[in-house]
Amino acid sequence: MISQLARLDVRDPAGVFAARQLGRGLAGMLNLDRQDQVRVATAVSEISRSAVMAGLTAVVTFAIDDADLVLAVTMSGDPPAGGIVPVQRLMDQVTVDGRVVRMAKRRPPGVKPDRRQVSEQLAAARSRSALDELRRQNQDLIVALDDLREQKDQLVALNAELQETNRGVMAMYGELSSELEQTNRGVVALYAELDETSERLRAASESKDRFWANVSHELRSPLNSIIGLTRLLAEPAPDGGGLDSERLYQVELIRNSGGTLLNLVNDLLDVAKAESGQLRTDPAQVDLPALLGRLRGLARPMTESKPLTVTVSADGAPSVILTDELALTAILRNLLSNGIKYTDRGEVRLSTRVTGPRLEIIVTDTGIGIPAGLTGHVFEEFYQVPGVRRGGTGLGLPYARRLARILGGDLTLTSEPGAGTTAVLDLPLRTPHLGTVLLADDDARFRAVLRGLLDGLAGRVLEAADGTQALAMAHDQPVDLVLADMRMPGLDGGALLARLPAAVPAVIITSADQPVPPRAAALLRKDELSRERLEFTIRAVVRGPS
Ligand code: ADP
Repeated sequence: MISQLARLDVRDPAGVFAARQLGRGLAGMLNLDRQDQVRVATAVSEISRSAVMAGLTAVVTFAIDDADLVLAVTMSGDPPAGGIVPVQRLMDQVTVDGRVVRMAKRRPPGVKPDRRQVSEQLAAARSRSALDELRRQNQDLIVALDDLREQKDQLVALNAELQETNRGVMAMYGELSSELEQTNRGVVALYAELDETSERLRAASESKDRFWANVSHELRSPLNSIIGLTRLLAEPAPDGGGLDSERLYQVELIRNSGGTLLNLVNDLLDVAKAESGQLRTDPAQVDLPALLGRLRGLARPMTESKPLTVTVSADGAPSVILTDELALTAILRNLLSNGIKYTDRGEVRLSTRVTGPRLEIIVTDTGIGIPAGLTGHVFEEFYQVPGVRRGGTGLGLPYARRLARILGGDLTLTSEPGAGTTAVLDLPLRTPHLGTVLLADDDARFRAVLRGLLDGLAGRVLEAADGTQALAMAHDQPVDLVLADMRMPGLDGGALLARLPAAVPAVIITSADQPVPPRAAALLRKDELSRERLEFTIRAVVRGPS
């Protein structure tokens, strides 16, 4: 709601002064701050002055609404444009409606003007001289200058504060980056130490395998001789004489101990070979039901006189599987023999299950089981569950798992103490289809051979004549598998592999007799290369969708 406070006619410069004084006076009454008082006074005097200068007369009304001090200047002609522009900078709102210029300035809330005071202001404004107004304006100017100086001082102080803060931030930043640098140095050193440790571990593990392999070789011949000799000793002599029963029993003991020792030595040799990557596989299409049949025949006598059924079921098993027959037999023989060894009554059952592109061979038993928390340990070399010694060396499961991984699969075990154990051998059954295979070999004829072998296995085959070219190709496009020759001009196979993206599986194909290089997933020998061997290797190193 608008409520009018005062009204003033402006016809000459004296009227302009009066309008100015009244504007400031009313603004002061309404509690506008000093600067806003000057703004209102200047706006009203400027607009009135522009009217008088243009030969017009003006009627100025001062009013308030709920939020603003509202001024309306009604002129006797069109308001001169020169008077509007400065006013727009001084007031919050300015509108021109025909001959009326309306202006508003926000005022502090809740102040009610006193009518009597308004009348006094009006009377004072009318009676004041130009000199009074000049004095008043000078005072305003001095105050404005003081304000300006104060603001400048504040600005200088603020600037100094800002500089101080900046210095603080810079110091903190410096501290942080030196701390970061130190941390980084620590991390780098830690990684170097880790690399060194793992290199030492690798070397230690290699020398352990070498030691085992050598010792086992050296021990096998004398052990075989001992066992042979005990057999001879136990046989009746040609002259009909022989050992008495007590001696015979002792010789039998020697032979049994020799046999146990020979088993241990053989196991050691197997594990050492598998660990060092020297185990040669001979992949072929293996008749699985026939293999299971042989295992059935092998396992049944192992139960001795225990009330135990051994079932080897070939139901649902695929008729052939591309794998290494000896390795697969060794794994399954070990699982069956463990099942029988650690089960006193009930059943040991081998069954198969095809799940998508993979085959699971499952051996379950109703035996003593393995205490909770120890199933992970049984894959450690020489580990045997404490208090459960039934012969054996503790090398069977680690060897079986190693073989399973060489076959591109894995071996896992679950167990419930007192209820039984289930071992699952998971093997690849189909070859995953590869999108792009990259061949790196300087021998174009051999690349052609490989290309032929890959027919139907890969969507696209890229060829590179050296490591540098191969590396560029592998960075340019996604590659599913790299087959690289070891010896190539420039960047050789080892160097190429070291620079390939870590996620790309790589196989070395070489005619040199050498161990698998560290970054290679497998090694194929050129003279032994066949479609089956290549496919078997692809299954082992490229995990297809399961
Ligand atoms: P071992 O020659 O002692 O059988 P393994 O490496 O084959 O060695 O097994 C390691 C240990 O795991 C065994 O000593 C035994 O304690 C436990 N174990 C393996 N298979 C079974 C099973 N089917 N039931 C219960 N315990 C088992």
